[in-house]
Amino acid sequence: MVENCLFCKIINGDIPSKKAYEDDKILAFYDIAPQAPVHILVIPKTHISCADEINSSNSSIVAYIFEKIPFIAKEAGIENGYRIISNCGPDACQSVHHIHFHILGGAQLSEKMA
Ligand code: AMP
Repeated sequence: MVENCLFCKIINGDIPSKKAYEDDKILAFYDIAPQAPVHILVIPKTHISCADEINSSNSSIVAYIFEKIPFIAKEAGIENGYRIISNCGPDACQSVHHIHFHILGGAQLSEKMA
């Protein structure tokens, strides 16, 4: 738990969220400002700021998130594919500095990613 981290507060229950999936290691919840019909954020319960901070000691949680994403997407009703995005740093417009993986789906998405 990192003080003043929005997503740590969501994990802690201090800020409410609409949960899509939770276990002892990760939380998935619906984005408050969806950019697709289904827009879910998947986060590790341990604080990692962004992809820059992934290393051999903590990378297993990223693998775990990717193992769970197909289940989370399917449970959310995504049937025909989805996009996974993780913004890291100012040029990527990262606004919450707790690593998160956007799952976007539920419709045909743009061919362009940026
Ligand atoms: P990023 O810009 O990649 O850092 O993504 C942060 C995401 O968090 C944005 O898509 C926001 O809409 C989303 N967000 C911010 N606050 C909340 C919240 N309280 N509950 C759910 N999603 C949030």
